[in-house]
Amino acid sequence: MNHLEIRLQPGLYFVATPIGSARDITLRALDVLASADVLAAEDTRSLRRLLEIHGVPLGDRPLLSYHDHSGAKARAKLLDHLAAGKSVAYASEAGTPLIADPGYHLSRDAAEAGYLVTSAPGPSAIITALTLAGLPTDAFFFAGFLPNAKGARRTGLEAVREVPGTLVFYESPHRIGEMLKDAARVLGPDREAVICRELTKKFEEVRRGTLSALAEEVAGTRLKGEIVVLVDRAPAQEASEGDIEAALQDAMQTMSVRDAAESVAKAFGAHKRSVYQSALKLSGKR
Ligand code: SAM
Repeated sequence: MNHLEIRLQPGLYFVATPIGSARDITLRALDVLASADVLAAEDTRSLRRLLEIHGVPLGDRPLLSYHDHSGAKARAKLLDHLAAGKSVAYASEAGTPLIADPGYHLSRDAAEAGYLVTSAPGPSAIITALTLAGLPTDAFFFAGFLPNAKGARRTGLEAVREVPGTLVFYESPHRIGEMLKDAARVLGPDREAVICRELTKKFEEVRRGTLSALAEEVAGTRLKGEIVVLVDRAPAQEASEGDIEAALQDAMQTMSVRDAAESVAKAFGAHKRSVYQSALKLSGKR
């Protein structure tokens, strides 16, 4: 037996479940699932199957269906259990609840009502993909699913074009071809990108290349399964002399020449000494 029956404090427990390989569940997640007074799930069948795989008995505990679209009524039912001092464990169909999955409204309402809201953390496709992609992870932006419609998808891509970090998208196999074409067009054909497919499953695959190369590659194939697309940040633009001078003029309205030079050099990643020389020249002209 992998799980323990433990005494849980009353409250709401968000439980992460595997994104593929069933054994990726954590021992604590199993403990929480074995011990909560009430279980709730986005998809009750998936949770029932997971309990069976790991030998966690449901017993006579309620297993309720909840997703944010099931609305206020289903939420009120779970909040009633919390009000009665019960521990409630909630799981998504796969991965971490609330990550491109339901649970946000439930979390917010339970916290606002003053109940304990906590988690048994675990797998998520975002983190798994970042781990494998080989793109910088110092900063990343999770953009979720892009809209279906072409115009809205391009607008969504434009909104994240300048984000100074790796972009992470969830994508469906039916739209991946169109998405890559639009991404190459809006974000730039030469940006490095990675497709992570079927993570932790039998046919796990990682494809790397520029956006245009991946778009071309995928155009001739039918990718199946679950997909995360990652795109490297835009290459740093080399600042022109004009840009630096304009920023210096602006900064010197409120700062000393030295401070303005330091701040502008930092903002543009330029050499301090040469920016200081430009600042001195400009201050002489003023
Ligand atoms: N809550 C989940 C998480 O923490 O990753 C995400 C749920 S979202 C509805 C489902 C999407 O996540 C899929 O369409 C796919 O883009 C991504 N995904 C989930 N599992 C995956 C896997 N094993 N491999 C690649 N992508 C996956």
